[in-house]
Amino acid sequence: KLSFDKLTNVSFTNTFHGEDQPVHLKVLDMALQKSSEHDVFDGPSARYCPAGVYEWITEGDQLKFQINAQNCIHCKTCDIKDPNQNINWTVPEGGGGPAYTNM
Ligand code: SF4
Repeated sequence: KLSFDKLTNVSFTNTFHGEDQPVHLKVLDMALQKSSEHDVFDGPSARYCPAGVYEWITEGDQLKFQINAQNCIHCKTCDIKDPNQNINWTVPEGGGGPAYTNM
């Protein structure tokens, strides 16, 4: 059984989103995140995102879909390439995008 996990605080692309920013990525239908071709969990969002924002993780015997929104570099590839238009991508308000840092 699949369940939607809360956002976690993972960052590995040297981007940072302020804690007060609303989440700008929303998956509309979780079932479409599974790949029908390969019978593995690498649906369009996970396959095209260059920043590891969409991730399937296992916790015990549960498989969870995690959105690491703070890793997003705002390339919009997941939105453009997804044939199902399953990602609701909201542009952050002015100044609310990623801040690139030297880590
Ligand atoms: Fe990944 Fe780009 Fe989509 Fe952000 S906009 S989630 S970096 S594909």
